[in-house]
Amino acid sequence: MSLSSQDVLKAFERIRVFQRGSQRAVHKPLLILLALARIAQGLPRTMHFGEVEGTLRQLLTEFGPSSAPKTPHNPFWHLQTDGLWRLDGPSSLLNRAPAATPNLAEMREPSVTAGFAPEVDAALRQDPALRAQLAHQLLDAHFPDTLHGDILQALGLDLSVPVEDGSTSQRKIARRDPAFRERVLRAYEYRCCVCGFDLRIGNVSAGLEAAHIQWFQAQGPDIEPNGLALCALHHKVFDLGAFTILPDTYSLVFSQHAVAGEASRSMLLGFHGAGIILPQSKDYYPKAEFLKWHEGQVFKRPGRSL
Ligand SMILES: [Zn+2]
Repeated sequence: MSLSSQDVLKAFERIRVFQRGSQRAVHKPLLILLALARIAQGLPRTMHFGEVEGTLRQLLTEFGPSSAPKTPHNPFWHLQTDGLWRLDGPSSLLNRAPAATPNLAEMREPSVTAGFAPEVDAALRQDPALRAQLAHQLLDAHFPDTLHGDILQALGLDLSVPVEDGSTSQRKIARRDPAFRERVLRAYEYRCCVCGFDLRIGNVSAGLEAAHIQWFQAQGPDIEPNGLALCALHHKVFDLGAFTILPDTYSLVFSQHAVAGEASRSMLLGFHGAGIILPQSKDYYPKAEFLKWHEGQVFKRPGRSL
């Protein structure tokens, strides 16, 4: 049976992503993106876990919460339950209950292979536009825009196939409030709350962005207390978890994983321990629950000492 593009996109939209409340679960989306990149490179349908373990761990480290790299093998197993993924190996493994996740050593066994289900693989392999649509769908659902390019680059995935906008289901997750940016920038008086960057070209702010503290992909609301005005540089590294903001003092804390040389030190680590430039009204101050979400789900722990 062959699958239509719409069947494939709908099926992936339904994947069960382990999510307790607003906890981020990036394992399945990252493995699917990795498998798409393999198809684009003309690699075979199935892979050994050992072939992709290093890449997967790297992706989880860079784009997942601090705990994510400890379980790179989980999606290899759990993606099966969504019917889009096929695992092969000894029957002792295959006959296990879905919740009995094999450990790392069991997954690394040379007899274990996995890949998209054959009909899904066939549909994706023959249609680069479908692969691009699926990749956009996954990125929109799980990661802020600032990281899409980095993730694609890390995977070597090129999406330069035109994607039709509007007519298909893949864009409906993106629900942006166009007024959010303006409200947040105004709250912070049009300057980066870390470095004060406030370039204007003519009378338009340039290189200044409204960041969600709790990502909208994780149900973060479009309200000022969940927003920060950040320059493009600080927005990017905030979304990567290089720094976070303490809820009680609004001090900036940088990650021990963030290392910078002489030239970039003053733009980044130089702000460690400093307070953010606060919004013009207390009504707009970042709310503790959103800052705590960022610290738990995005920040690369441990933090540098203050
Ligand atoms: Zn800045």
